[in-house]
Amino acid sequence: MSQAQVDVAEVHWLMEMLQTVDVGLVVLNCDYRIQVWNGFMENHSGLTPRQVRDRYLFDLFSEIDEDWLRRKCDPVILLKNRAFTIWEQRPYIFKFKNYRPITGSAEYMYQNSTIIPLSDARGQVTHLCIIIYDVTDVAVSRTELESMNGRLRQLSKTDFLTQLFNRGHWEESLIQEFRRLKRYNHKSTLLMCDIDHFKRINDTFGHAAGDVVIQAIADAVRKNLRSTDIAGRYGGEEYAVLLVDTDLEQAKVLAERLRQSVEALQINYNDQLLKVTLSLGLAGYQAYMTEHRQWIEAADKGLYQSKAAGRNQLTCYIDSV
Ligand code: GH3
Ligand code: MG
Ligand code: MG
Repeated sequence: MSQAQVDVAEVHWLMEMLQTVDVGLVVLNCDYRIQVWNGFMENHSGLTPRQVRDRYLFDLFSEIDEDWLRRKCDPVILLKNRAFTIWEQRPYIFKFKNYRPITGSAEYMYQNSTIIPLSDARGQVTHLCIIIYDVTDVAVSRTELESMNGRLRQLSKTDFLTQLFNRGHWEESLIQEFRRLKRYNHKSTLLMCDIDHFKRINDTFGHAAGDVVIQAIADAVRKNLRSTDIAGRYGGEEYAVLLVDTDLEQAKVLAERLRQSVEALQINYNDQLLKVTLSLGLAGYQAYMTEHRQWIEAADKGLYQSKAAGRNQLTCYIDSV
């Protein structure tokens, strides 16, 4: 073979490779009219090179945000820089359906891209090449991992039975609020509640009925409090609520409303109506408290007094310090 024949063969092979390579290649002139469209682009768009040749990119693909892509491409032409787009920024440039069996959960192909300047013999940029990479696998697994992590974080904070915060997370929130109160002169109040004679429910109707009651009271807690209040399941049938930026008088109104709504509840379990009451204790944050446990103890003393005084009532524990 002569040198000229070798050269021709090489160009031929290169063209063949560009045609079959598993990335998208698009060449645009400086007016954003399509000049080259390889096999990848044809397969995913359903448009042949002949159909797209000399067509204005933004007419053909209305999904492309023209301002955004021009902001990326203009410096490539002017400064001969490369530019990149990543799926985290925008999921795709070309809206291609995703047909992969493994990453089938994604509706569209996620794409990264590199945009490179193409110069003529005088070094003038006359064209742009957009190289499209299909990164659906990476994007889908990253997105799934992030949502799993979010779910795990949520699970690690949540009590399974009631969907209130579990004790660990609730107490952490209390510690944070306690520190905030030490720095700023705000008023917050702690509410502890315990279901009265709960053992009787378990003994008479069974543990499953007890669980339904625990859930029903958690719902009542949720309904009666505000979105800023932090409610947790403190123990078996004990609930703790941090009433943020709420003084004792306001807290009394909230807690009394909760007590009454539990008293009025008719909990249906296997066509039997179960009735329970709640004893409650309240304690406002006091500056003398050096650690959050003292605050819990104060509210717990209020709760104990409610029990001792006959249950189904609310006691505000006032410290004589
Ligand atoms: P008191 O009015 O003095 O509070 O009486 P009580 O019977 O409610 O007494 P106590 O608070 O000590 O009883 C708690 C009971 O709650 C004991 C335990 O068997 C039951 N319990 C704790 N966790 C669960 C749970 O997740 N499900 C059910 N069904 N019962 C639980
Ligand atoms: Mg109890
Ligand atoms: Mg108890």
